[in-house]
Amino acid sequence: MPFHIPQSLYDQLRAHGEETYPHECCGILLGISDADNITVTELIRAGNTRTDSAHNRYNIAPQELISAQRQARKSGLDIVGFYHSHPDHPAQWSPTDFAEAHWFSCAYVITAVEQAAAQITNSFLLTGTSEEDKKFLDEPIEITT
Ligand SMILES: [Zn+2]
Repeated sequence: MPFHIPQSLYDQLRAHGEETYPHECCGILLGISDADNITVTELIRAGNTRTDSAHNRYNIAPQELISAQRQARKSGLDIVGFYHSHPDHPAQWSPTDFAEAHWFSCAYVITAVEQAAAQITNSFLLTGTSEEDKKFLDEPIEITT
């Protein structure tokens, strides 16, 4: 299931992780998704509400999610994914990331940031229908112009 994102938004989500280093950044991706593709068209930065462990945890406030949903609906879009950074850790999902992922068919994008410089960015698609059968699948990122 290819994940399409314009270069400008791809750059923005990576830059966000560089700005918040050594803390994690997080945000919401709006766009269009169908059975075969996810296409990102807008990005919303979110504040990381985790104060206990902001370097390896992230949390998007419910109010921010609700306002993102409202913004999406107004533009005829959906929430199609979420992104966050991994300061000084690989761009692979953690057990916490998996436990806290509940949006099926959404992309979870992770950027590794080392010494305040964005490294690899990976995307994982949350598949399944329930907490029991959910899975993260590697998803190729296609950068568009
Ligand atoms: Zn993570």
